[in-house]
Amino acid sequence: MALIVQKFGGTSVGSIERIEQVADKVKKHREAGDDLVVVLSAMSGETNRLIDLAKQITDQPVPRELDVIVSTGEQVTIALLAMALIKRGVPAVSYTGNQVRILTDSSHNKARILQIDDQKIRADLKAGRVVVVAGFQGVDEHGSITTLGRGGSDTTGVALAAALKADECQIYTDVDGVYTTDPRVVPQARRLEKITFEEMLEMASLGSKVLQIRSVEFAGKYNVPLRVLHSFKEGPGTLITIDEEESMEQPIISGIAFNRDEAKLTIRGVPDTPGVAFKILGPISASNIEVDMIVQNVSHDNTTDFTFTVHRNEYEKAHAVLENTAREIGAREVVGDIKIAKVSIVGVGMRSHAGVASRMFEALAKESINIQMISTSEIKVSVVIEEKYLELAVRALHTAFELDAPARQGE
Ligand code: ASP
Ligand code: MG
Repeated sequence: MALIVQKFGGTSVGSIERIEQVADKVKKHREAGDDLVVVLSAMSGETNRLIDLAKQITDQPVPRELDVIVSTGEQVTIALLAMALIKRGVPAVSYTGNQVRILTDSSHNKARILQIDDQKIRADLKAGRVVVVAGFQGVDEHGSITTLGRGGSDTTGVALAAALKADECQIYTDVDGVYTTDPRVVPQARRLEKITFEEMLEMASLGSKVLQIRSVEFAGKYNVPLRVLHSFKEGPGTLITIDEEESMEQPIISGIAFNRDEAKLTIRGVPDTPGVAFKILGPISASNIEVDMIVQNVSHDNTTDFTFTVHRNEYEKAHAVLENTAREIGAREVVGDIKIAKVSIVGVGMRSHAGVASRMFEALAKESINIQMISTSEIKVSVVIEEKYLELAVRALHTAFELDAPARQGE
């Protein structure tokens, strides 16, 4: 008999019919003999609706009060599911974050979990009940309700699994697993059987939005086996683990991630003196703008060009800050481009294989795609290219790294 934490997202509990379907599913698992803790999100759209209500009162709701209102969405779904289970003859009980005592810090709207009291849950499990817990919420030391940031129910699920030393944390959602890349861009994309926490973190931070990033960090830190599954279709999903076994079939690259969220800024003709990178990026970070990729050219005539990327939403702000810096340090000009995209290949196999980056550049060269910036880490190579070539680049790389699903018979 295993102890499983199952988390269902907003679309999976988006209506009464869906909640009844989730109850059928939970009942089936329960009857198979496993102990179950079920974590739920609010009905899809509900958290947005609640935030919108608050915004009708004030543009800037007090964070503490916003938590009081947004945490109600999950309180509704847990009670409905518990009722649906009891109706089916499955003993069940629901708890809010406060009732379990999911203790967090006091950073309202983005709280971090400090400690979980597992006593009540363990007692219920022992008594044969399914325990249904509200995701996304906790309570601070003063008894104030807190929430964990958007998408935070994933983190609740993983944190509970860690605290209870569960055998697996299953995240049920509207896709049947983690794919080698977005199937809307590459129809031949394949569901991965397995991926490591590290790879998943890179994929998630690069825009594959299957899981909240913090939940993956948490799962990696506490080594909680995490499985992404479809709520209403049968299938093994994708297992995310620490396991990095070197099998013969293991591909070098596990996936290709991309995003269109960044913009590029270049400051030209910067006097090449010590401290200049700090002079450029200091004011940017002081303005709370996050920088992603950075490239500085070798100097020429004692001046250099310095390029970096920021989130597109912060492009205007960063541009203004940089104009200021350019005047102060006597740089020639500031230029920028928002029509860029970042494409990355991700895989732990890179550690033990040479030539991965050049294989990537070759594939892009064959399609005559110009690379504007490059950055690498131990398990990732990222390039910035012109946005209009994004889909072509992803498809070319997917094929070059042999990730395409085998054609089905008759195709
Ligand atoms: N209901 C919250 C949100 O929409 C938490 C979650 O769904 O994970 O962000
Ligand atoms: Mg979610």
